[in-house]
Amino acid sequence: MNNRSREEYLALLSAVKKITAEVASHHASAVDAGSQFPIETVQALQKVQALSAPVPREYGGLGCSMSELAELCSTLAQGCGSSGMVLAMHYIQVACLARHGMGSAYLRNYLQELVRHQYLLASMTSEVGTFGETRTSVCSVERDGTGFKLNKDATTGSYCAHADGILVTSRRAPDAEPSDQVLVLVRKGDYSLEQTSSWDTLGMRGTCSPGFKLVSHGLLDQIIPGSFGDSSAQTMVPYSHILWASLWWGIASNALSLAAEFVRAAARKTPGTVPPTAVRLAEAYEDLQVMRHSWLALATEFDEMAERPTGREELQGMAWALKMNTLKVTASETAPRIVHQALQITGILGYKNDSKFSLGRHLRDVLSAALMISNDRITAKSASMLLVLKDV
Ligand SMILES: Cc1cc2nc3c(=O)[nH]c(=O)nc-3n(C[C@H](O)[C@H](O)[C@H](O)COP(=O)(O)OP(=O)(O)OC[C@H]3O[C@@H](n4cnc5c(N)ncnc54)[C@H](O)[C@@H]3O)c2cc1C
Repeated sequence: MNNRSREEYLALLSAVKKITAEVASHHASAVDAGSQFPIETVQALQKVQALSAPVPREYGGLGCSMSELAELCSTLAQGCGSSGMVLAMHYIQVACLARHGMGSAYLRNYLQELVRHQYLLASMTSEVGTFGETRTSVCSVERDGTGFKLNKDATTGSYCAHADGILVTSRRAPDAEPSDQVLVLVRKGDYSLEQTSSWDTLGMRGTCSPGFKLVSHGLLDQIIPGSFGDSSAQTMVPYSHILWASLWWGIASNALSLAAEFVRAAARKTPGTVPPTAVRLAEAYEDLQVMRHSWLALATEFDEMAERPTGREELQGMAWALKMNTLKVTASETAPRIVHQALQITGILGYKNDSKFSLGRHLRDVLSAALMISNDRITAKSASMLLVLKDV
């Protein structure tokens, strides 16, 4: 990265820090209480062109690396977990387009349009009948001349009602196998959404993720070239697991900051002594540091791989898949543990919903991590890989 792009990235990071402190944190309680989409935060991000951070510079974006995107998501999540998740999910979709769609003139133009208008992209991988397995689909693309029709019954669709476009997984054709999938961009104005379930959840309430029946049409050019199998392994999985881990860390980090403030206040009351809660704070901080190093190291490894001619091949390999699975499972287990530690430190003040040390939202938000693609499902896949992977 040259100095100019680094400077631009640092300016964006500083703008996102400001939005975190002044907008996301300010609205986080209302977003959580009312299951409201964090519209103020997303609009503030659009104003500073944050939504096009992953778009390559030649198409008008900042061309941010995985490490930089993870830093942005972890920052925003410190103010509002739902906002951090919305930003991460949007970045995952943009990365799929930017890394797999640039052979298509239509998708190149679309990406430039996304930069200009700061479009927000959502995702529909889940589906009634696939039971949480993203690598199979029931729905299929029906081609007709230069166009297609695509209807999907999705179990969960985060902020679909607020998005400008959705990337939808589907079987390639009505006679294709369930795992012969493509990724299709459907554009606002070309689809209708019928909400089929509610989103009254424990946490991540601002992601507004009920089930939807999608009815859509578009041009064949909107189908991302190649197979979803490849874009999933090379992009969707690494971007999901690294960016999710970074934002779960952001939530845990904010919880621990509140706990640290609580401990410092206790220390001030009895100068010269170390409050007993300080030891627990130090233990939780150890977990926080290990967690951060874990997603940062894999983000750096991804960025290095992206530079190598063999990078895409390496991303398809079992060794990398195992690392991604392990990151997802460990991060989703560590984040709730850290928030729970913070709660032990703050005690009843953290347990109360109306105190300045309140940790209810943090705890409820991070509990979604283990379910967002079930850890059991991921661990079962790792177990199969470990049976055949030599040189672990
Ligand atoms: C906050 C949030 C936002 C989301 N946003 C979106 C979105 O925008 N778009 C979208 O498409 N989806 C979204 N999802 C859905 C998500 O990606 C998963 O599809 C969904 O959480 C899986 O649902 P499930 O737990 O019913 O399914 P499953 O994975 O089938 O899990 C059900 C149960 O089966 C068990 N299980 C499953 N497989 C195995 C196995 N191999 N071994 C042992 N046990 C197993 C699990 O432990 C679990 O108890 C979101 C989820 C969350 C939490």
